[in-house]
Amino acid sequence: MIRLPVKNGEVAIEPTKIVAIGRNYARHAEEMGSEIPGEPVIFLKPPSSLIGPDSTIILPGMSKRVEHEVELAVIIGKRAKRVSAENAMDYVYGYTVILDITARDLQAEAKRKGLPWSTAKGFDTFAPVGPRVALRDELDPGNLEIWLRVNGEMRQRGNTGEMLFKIPRLIEYISAIMTLEPGDIIATGTPSGVGPLEHGDVIEAHIEGIGTLVERVMRES
Ligand code: MG
Repeated sequence: MIRLPVKNGEVAIEPTKIVAIGRNYARHAEEMGSEIPGEPVIFLKPPSSLIGPDSTIILPGMSKRVEHEVELAVIIGKRAKRVSAENAMDYVYGYTVILDITARDLQAEAKRKGLPWSTAKGFDTFAPVGPRVALRDELDPGNLEIWLRVNGEMRQRGNTGEMLFKIPRLIEYISAIMTLEPGDIIATGTPSGVGPLEHGDVIEAHIEGIGTLVERVMRES
């Protein structure tokens, strides 16, 4: 469970699941050599991968290449089961920044073998969130600058308006498969520019209207 600042106080984020979207920005799908999907591509990250702001991402010994992906996180506010896109935004509590940290070498191997991505996406510390939660009415999630710097160098830069599948469609699609509970998180996909992380790196991940999430990177000792 993670506590984050929110307007007039603090909120406890305790998801039953983190649903992440793959290939939701065309240029990122291109840089991965992936096709543009006809339906949302979803996978799960475990709640045990969550960490708060100003924490440490641990590079696991099992991987030789761990990469950053900055994403807009949608936090669900009430139980959503088979919700239509028209009504979907009623189920949103707010937004924060999430890093979908990925062991890219393990993911590539899984793709090659036709296996799931749970290993590549599921290590402890692979889902940093923060620095705060913006409530649903504080911003328009369809037009926000999103960027990520490593050691002060710009690596990823885009706008949430580039998403192939918008938030209402994502909620409609996911809630037709699995009930979304209050506190569940949807990681809405990353813009292009993903790249490797090294021991000692400092990440700044920013979304307009939310703020800048800062994390350190350390190799597993
Ligand atoms: Mg991602």
